[in-house]
Amino acid sequence: MNAHSSRFLPPLRTGWRDAAACGSTDPELFFPLDGGEDAPARIDAAKRICAGCPVRAECLVDVMAWEDPARRWGVVGGTSSEERADLFARHRDDPTPAMGGAAA
Ligand code: SF4
Repeated sequence: MNAHSSRFLPPLRTGWRDAAACGSTDPELFFPLDGGEDAPARIDAAKRICAGCPVRAECLVDVMAWEDPARRWGVVGGTSSEERADLFARHRDDPTPAMGGAAA
């Protein structure tokens, strides 16, 4: 068991960003600067890329650990900013840092 392992979280691989499916995509798809009429379609397109990403679990755990709740933005780990806010609220009392709690 390494420092990132627990029975609650998937084991984290080091260098997982190298395998990110979004690595060569347009950042505007994941982090649109405007909320134009096509924003829902862009969010759906980004989520489809995430759905096939081999490091989705690592990505979601990572963003839940560091994302500033006041600055949530874009699609990360297959979730919208609103979905991550809901996830954070539902797991606020989870003891793992990635879900909003303090490490035991
Ligand atoms: S889950 Fe989505 S945002 Fe995260 S690395 Fe994969 S493609 Fe990129």
